[in-house]
Amino acid sequence: MDFEGLKSLFRKKSPWVLALEAGGCNGCIIEVAACLTPRYDVERFGILRKPTPRHADILVITGAITHQIKDRVKRIYEQMPEPKYVIAVGACPIKGGMLSDCYNTDTPLDEIIPVDAYVPGCPPKPEAIIDGIIKAIEAIE
Ligand code: SF4
Repeated sequence: MDFEGLKSLFRKKSPWVLALEAGGCNGCIIEVAACLTPRYDVERFGILRKPTPRHADILVITGAITHQIKDRVKRIYEQMPEPKYVIAVGACPIKGGMLSDCYNTDTPLDEIIPVDAYVPGCPPKPEAIIDGIIKAIEAIE
């Protein structure tokens, strides 16, 4: 196996995740936090939460994309090393959800950065979020 193959194997076995709340009601980020507790325990899949985009393989975004955070989302995405994956969690980043008509929210997330997996719901259950992360891991080759 060459070096690139080894890197993919390590990423697949232990992806590092950055969770970002963009601008919703915080309901989804609370469910993401629940995934990290012993009850749902995503670490059993080797998934570790990281505080910086420079160490992250997967970006999990919750909440509506506000005008204020739009450029920051782009910058965070650009700071992640390749290959990188994005998961939109909840109705807000997918289509705006209940905040779609707000004066301060912007386009869906996938019109700002590429999205690899969508987890619908308002908020989605931790099981659905874990399923979305596993789908993103399966995309890592
Ligand atoms: S999708 Fe629903 S629960 Fe999640 S941040 Fe938006 S309004 Fe809140």
